[in-house]
Amino acid sequence: MTTDLPTDSIMTTEAAPHLFIHGATLLDPKTGAQKRADLLIRDGRIAAIGAGIDASDAPAFDATGKMVSIGWMDMHVHLREPGFEYKETIATGCRAAAFGGFTAVACMPNTNPPIHTRDVVEFIIERAEATPVDVYPIACVSKYRKGESLSEMADLAEGGAVAFSDDGDPVQDTGLMRHALEYSRMLDKPIIGHEEELPLGPKGHMHEGEVSTRLGLPGIPTISEEIMIARDILLAEYTGGHVHVAHISTAGAVDQVRQAKKKGIRVTTEVCTHHFALTDKAVEDMEFDTHTKMHPPLRTAMDIEAIKEGLRDGTIDAICTDHAPHASFEKEVEYIAAPFGILGLETAWGLTGREIIEPGVLGVAETVHKLTVAPREILRIPVPALEIGAPANLTIFDATTRWTFTAADIKSKSVNTPFVGHEMVGRAWAVYNKGQLVKNA
Ligand SMILES: [Zn+2]
Repeated sequence: MTTDLPTDSIMTTEAAPHLFIHGATLLDPKTGAQKRADLLIRDGRIAAIGAGIDASDAPAFDATGKMVSIGWMDMHVHLREPGFEYKETIATGCRAAAFGGFTAVACMPNTNPPIHTRDVVEFIIERAEATPVDVYPIACVSKYRKGESLSEMADLAEGGAVAFSDDGDPVQDTGLMRHALEYSRMLDKPIIGHEEELPLGPKGHMHEGEVSTRLGLPGIPTISEEIMIARDILLAEYTGGHVHVAHISTAGAVDQVRQAKKKGIRVTTEVCTHHFALTDKAVEDMEFDTHTKMHPPLRTAMDIEAIKEGLRDGTIDAICTDHAPHASFEKEVEYIAAPFGILGLETAWGLTGREIIEPGVLGVAETVHKLTVAPREILRIPVPALEIGAPANLTIFDATTRWTFTAADIKSKSVNTPFVGHEMVGRAWAVYNKGQLVKNA
């Protein structure tokens, strides 16, 4: 039996109220504990864990040699609906998420209309209900994302917004950011900062450095990110609000967050997979391929080393993608005319395996923690449990399969990724959530 998703989705998911997953190693990212056990799902809930379970009447999923954890979450995606359905819809974005191993995403509010009124928050939650993915809207800090006056943050939070951000644009007005952080404290929701002081790199298209000079492209300097982070850390300290630094990309920024955390300031951060998989050299090596253009830009090998150290020592809490679909007609233009952003959901795990797990930067359990517990704790979302009686919200994966990412693996409505032809290490084989099974093989 299959369930068709609403709108223009071509994903069909299997309604699987009962399922017997056998042969797997269960990983609990809360504790890091791993054990060999079978798992039986009945009516969408975990009914039994262990050996010798009687499951003769339930469909079986052979997970021999694979791992099972609670479902992964990407806390930074752009689903483009409402307003830009030609790039992505909630249904197609959820399809990409499920195939990438994610059972939850938080979506950014630069839609049209933006997520700045409660009805848009509720629209998104409703649209996502039938999908196997939990979608958590992030609402605007400012009305229309114009940076002029605060959105109705309390009303938006009541409607289901989990955080506030004007992502895509920074909140330039320091007074507005101060008030947003004051509300953040009262509402107990983070403000997610797109950290960029625009006048420092107003027409930049890539990282400002040796490569941009050689290519003659205007650059975006590291200082434009770091000066805004410095401001927001000071404001977080002053107001007691929680600032979450989006898509951290520079060595200096990692150290700023590290020092702020040491002082007990409420600051958290995330890194996008492309920011540890590619450097600014890719712009040159790939001959101005516009799939190397994103915000913040690809930085240097030195920045990647600092990011890895930040992941290791806990400065960087979460791994995310900043999944940003754009249509081919928008990306297939001159470098300076192309919009910023690339897909991320489909390649997130394979790149993380290649760059983080295989080289030993983090173990599997620590990595999965940054994709499960950490984002949900930052957003105050209940963390799914891997225990009897809990709703089954699971990702079935391994961290070792080597495979090549091809165009056929793209599940988004758009195709803007630089990773076609890249080797991936580790594969998400299936997700289970809301009584639905999505297999990726
Ligand atoms: Zn951003």
